Amino acid sequence: MAIATRELQQMFSLTAEEVAKNRDRLCELDGVIGDGDHGLAMDAGWQAASKAVLQLDEVEVAPTFLFNTAAKAFLNAVGASSGPLYATAFMRAGTAVKDKHTLSDDDFLDAFRAMAQGIQDRGKAETGEKTMIDAWRPAADAAMEARRTGANISACLDAAVRAARDGCEATRDMVAAKGRSSRLGDRALGHIDPGAASAVIVIEAISAFLTR
Ligand code: ADP
Ligand code: MG
Ligand code: MG
Repeated sequence: MAIATRELQQMFSLTAEEVAKNRDRLCELDGVIGDGDHGLAMDAGWQAASKAVLQLDEVEVAPTFLFNTAAKAFLNAVGASSGPLYATAFMRAGTAVKDKHTLSDDDFLDAFRAMAQGIQDRGKAETGEKTMIDAWRPAADAAMEARRTGANISACLDAAVRAARDGCEATRDMVAAKGRSSRLGDRALGHIDPGAASAVIVIEAISAFLTR
């Protein structure tokens, strides 16, 4: 199945809807170990990105331009740390599919992996530091590993969702080494990281979109 700009527009609006449904829960999670705005930040960012990409002409606009448009809109809408992290993710996804008009399954997986790598390069977090990377990194790795063993794209994204959920759950037992909650030391123990929780929602939405 080739994925074109039209499908990517749908992916953005579906993800924005799922993030919006979880806005309050994400703020509550961030209220425990951060400043309580993560749901508002993610909701504002995904709404803005979704709105901006839906305004593009699906026939004339290539996926790279769509991802770059999403990056700009997300960055402009979000003042929190998640803004530049997701903006970089979208920009990298755009670079990964440069010059393509439609995306093959492998192209899409390249873009997915580039999102995780972009977040990691921008935020300089490693796994184990209680950030969204604890969901994104294992998710991207699981998707690529599934692909290497011959899985189709839905199975790859299923594997990514499972890895993201496990990674998010694992943040409960971590002390934060990056971001606002790193100031809390041991007091962050016992609580999942809000950015990892929102990453699960985003990855679930991408997976749901692909298996629709
Ligand atoms: P802020 O802390 O500025 O209010 P948000 O509430 O939007 O930003 O996002 C907080 C989340 O950002 C954290 O839960 C964590 O997952 C993520 N985060 C913070 N710093 C980094 C980083 N350097 N690398 C990756 N993720 C990070
Ligand atoms: Mg916050
Ligand atoms: Mg904040």
